[in-house]
Amino acid sequence: MKRIFVALSVFLLISCSNQSDNELNIYTSRQPQLLEPIIEDFYANTGIKVNLLSGNAQELMERIDIEGENTNADIFMTVDAGVLWQANERGIFSEIESDILTNNIPTYLKDPNNNWFGFSKRARTIVYSSDEFSEDDFSTYEDLADPKWKGRLCLRTSKKVYNRSLIASMIDAYGFEKTKEVVSGWVSNLATEVFSNDTNALKAVSSGQCGVTIVNTYYLARLLDDPNYSNLKIFWANQNDRGVHVNISGAGVVKSSRNKINAVKLLEYLSSVDAQNFYASANKEYPVVENVVIDESIKDWGAFIEDNINVAKLGELQKEAVLLAQEVGYK
Ligand code: FE
Repeated sequence: MKRIFVALSVFLLISCSNQSDNELNIYTSRQPQLLEPIIEDFYANTGIKVNLLSGNAQELMERIDIEGENTNADIFMTVDAGVLWQANERGIFSEIESDILTNNIPTYLKDPNNNWFGFSKRARTIVYSSDEFSEDDFSTYEDLADPKWKGRLCLRTSKKVYNRSLIASMIDAYGFEKTKEVVSGWVSNLATEVFSNDTNALKAVSSGQCGVTIVNTYYLARLLDDPNYSNLKIFWANQNDRGVHVNISGAGVVKSSRNKINAVKLLEYLSSVDAQNFYASANKEYPVVENVVIDESIKDWGAFIEDNINVAKLGELQKEAVLLAQEVGYK
């Protein structure tokens, strides 16, 4: 009888540890439908089941902090290098040594200490109305500070991390004072109050309330499904100098994860050509890996030169960017 009991305990232990070995939890601010095809394919290939806990990035970071050693989170996945950098500052991630990730992901799209990695690229560039302007009218983000754009510029609020990261990239390129002049010029050129999101800024351009804005390209791609917005045209900024501002969606392995080996496996899988083929296009973003399919709806926009500043810099300079926006009254 005793022997049976011991055998049963061992069996239970094995089955428990198997269960945790074959399950992963991702805490993510990304929409679940963007990840579901990936996790289904990953399960089909590895037998590892992935659960998603979706929510606001700040709240999820808070939750991981509070859960501490007992957290169920194995991976934290979010958008914008500014947020990933912040998560790393909070000590949420652990360093990953993976030749696959090192080989697959370009150096400028990951944390220099391998605590987090980019899995899709998000370009933030100029969009204008073809009712009013042509591509010859545009050149750089900085040019939008010229008084000739007075009353024609619409911008999203600087409270959004996307704009903080854009300003951070300019601080890196030109220094604080020069960037301050540029952003101050933008504010003087505003046609109206800042918008709470990119889509409303685009709609204001399309309706003629303003003539030009700066947005993440996937918002434009979504609107262009509707022929009413066909007067919106993309312009790749700064093609003769530092290139278009590029940010990422990314992820890292949570420090207290009990499934680190499988968590790394999932990140490695995300960087594979197979997964990249559909991960980036699910949200009309750009893959981080070369020779991967670009979504049909954005293919015609063509290739563009990217600002290849290390995205971690966007996090490092986030505080300065916030201060700069405050100083020039960019709400
Ligand atoms: Fe977005």
